[in-house]
Amino acid sequence: MTSSKKFMDIDMKFGAHNYHPIPVVVAKAQGVWVYDPEGKKYLDCLSAYSAVNQGHVHPKVVKALKDQLERVALTSRAFHNDRMGLYLKHLLDVCGEGFDMALPMNTGAEAVETAIKMVRRWGYEVKKVEHNKAEIIVCAENFHGRTTTIVGFSTDPLANRNFGPYTPGFKIIPFDDPEALEKAITPNTVAFLVEPIQGEAGVIVPTDGYLKKIRDICTKNNILLVLDEIQTGFGRTGKMFCHQHEGIIPDVMTLGKALGGGLLPVSAVVSRKEIMKVFIPGSHGSTFGGFPLACAVGEAALDVLVEEKLAERSAELGAYFLEELKKINHPRIKEVRGKGLFTAVELHEKARPLTEKLIEEGILAKETHDFTIRFAPPLIITKEELDWALTIIKKVLGS
Ligand SMILES: *Cc1c(COP(=O)(O)O)cnc(C)c1O
Repeated sequence: MTSSKKFMDIDMKFGAHNYHPIPVVVAKAQGVWVYDPEGKKYLDCLSAYSAVNQGHVHPKVVKALKDQLERVALTSRAFHNDRMGLYLKHLLDVCGEGFDMALPMNTGAEAVETAIKMVRRWGYEVKKVEHNKAEIIVCAENFHGRTTTIVGFSTDPLANRNFGPYTPGFKIIPFDDPEALEKAITPNTVAFLVEPIQGEAGVIVPTDGYLKKIRDICTKNNILLVLDEIQTGFGRTGKMFCHQHEGIIPDVMTLGKALGGGLLPVSAVVSRKEIMKVFIPGSHGSTFGGFPLACAVGEAALDVLVEEKLAERSAELGAYFLEELKKINHPRIKEVRGKGLFTAVELHEKARPLTEKLIEEGILAKETHDFTIRFAPPLIITKEELDWALTIIKKVLGS
């Protein structure tokens, strides 16, 4: 028995079966490459759902983690620490105009939960919505995480079946439909929560102008626009944040994944002081949120994105990659879409057999929703590596 087989068997025996992983065991990783226990090498085209935009174990992020480990790792928020404020300032600088306060958490789902609590409280205390009546509008096919509240407004039965009763106060409209948003708004609406590109739904890119339209509708109706940029943020779509493609600024943004530089769960909510001020001592928190180790890693993760111009790289290589994918032109392909190095190929047939072939050939990719294969390599990928991937993808998808 190979050691890969041994590791997969023991996972399946002792680990809950809440995932259906591709049968590859990763034992080592560096940059865009991962290695199995037998030493076979794969190019990572999933990047841990965009949590590894900076590449695996980036030396600068690893050094920041190690250096901080030698000093202090965890303090809790009962005390100040000497990393958090500087890190949050750096994060807000990267977020740019429109954001002047941040709340650090750990996972993406926690950031979304934080945003939900914040906009509800803003609704009651600032907008003066009647107590316990606040409504948040969300989109069909959304993915915002796995907590009970969040899956309660998912439309995916795999994610929410038998997890009820669901938290009330959410209204679901179709994605990429500004008119539906306008119609769904009531005097009790406090926010619209949406992904600028729906990632887990299969890299669904809305019509050009969608973000501008929803920005206008939210402003006109005094409701907060909450963009979940956990997957689309930090260069993935060819801008530092996806909303920058349309020159808009959301009121609230949830961040995670690549903020942890591929090493730790690091998330945050960023917004304006006049909204963030609804959180007073005791109203929200997390034992680990903003811990020194995470702050050191987050700061280095941001530095790498900026210094290595990864958003620009994603824009340039992503446009090339998309163009080449479109050339495959095989009848099994229904659509090729994406922005930056956030791309997907939707098929007329089940994707699993093809992802398995890609894996055999050394490309680590995973299907979403049965018919779509997502390609989202680390943003540090070189043109040569991308060309190598294209040769294989063309061979597998085109024959
Ligand atoms: C991954 C993801 C989340 C959840 O993040 P976790 O760290 O897995 O909790 C939320 N929103 C979006 C858009 C995501 O892609």
